[in-house]
Amino acid sequence: MKICETIREMREYRKGAQGRVALVPTMGYLHEGHLSLVRQARQENDVVVVSIFVNPTQFGPNEDFARYPRDMERDLNLLRAENVDAVFAPDAEEMYGDGFSTYVEVTGLSEVFEGAVRPGHFRGVATVVLKLFNIVQPHCAYFGQKDAQQAAVLKRMVRDLNVDVTIKTCPTIREADGLAASSRNIYLNAEERAAATLLHQGLQAGRRLWQAGEQDPDVITARIKEVLQHPLITLDYVAVVSPDSFTPVTRVEANHLLIIAAKVGTTRLIDNMSLV
Ligand code: AMP
Repeated sequence: MKICETIREMREYRKGAQGRVALVPTMGYLHEGHLSLVRQARQENDVVVVSIFVNPTQFGPNEDFARYPRDMERDLNLLRAENVDAVFAPDAEEMYGDGFSTYVEVTGLSEVFEGAVRPGHFRGVATVVLKLFNIVQPHCAYFGQKDAQQAAVLKRMVRDLNVDVTIKTCPTIREADGLAASSRNIYLNAEERAAATLLHQGLQAGRRLWQAGEQDPDVITARIKEVLQHPLITLDYVAVVSPDSFTPVTRVEANHLLIIAAKVGTTRLIDNMSLV
């Protein structure tokens, strides 16, 4: 497995890569969710490149950039075991050195829900992903449904800017009790970890209500809020949205998305569920 720490090394590697090239962008501290993307990329492509970069521009000033978990040795071993061809692991200076001043802004979609709670977040995500696409030049790139709004922002970006990369979205991987796998789950203490399962339970309760015929988004979100009543949980938002635009719907139908963001203790978690 080739490990590239500089853009120049990555470009050199790419020049010699034969066939269909996939990119799986990550911030490292890998878990089964990341590995599911890697496995799908491995199945569908000749060359799999994984990037590991904790991207400073997508964190707000009061967010967890400095303490975001990192373990490069462990990550590299996990990726070797998945037969990954190359890892691109630059540092922040390599990506943003020398008077960096150009950003990608996906308007509208970046300003609601996650974008409203985390101003500048999607600007940072879109910017770093476009940079990764320009450096790695993959045919396709794999993202998790877990971060559904991120996937929608990136699909919008490649369409709007005619970026020749296919965005693939893979299903959310969950722990046995339903909690979506996340690098941030490590922040949860035992009590919080137990309470965190309510996010998935809330989504399931919302979906059951819709499956039973309920189409009023207010009734469905009220049910989810009931399930999430817990002293350790502070809700940021619960909504039913259209999956491409993230506009709230007035009548709930198939393929609409239930979305949740909540703090469990001090840890902020997001989750979502498609209505099927
Ligand atoms: P991150 O390292 O958190 O930036 O995530 C890197 C990629 O893994 C993103 O495309 C995420 O959506 C995806 N991902 C994170 N958690 C999960 C999960 N539980 N299931 C599927 N994909 C995930």
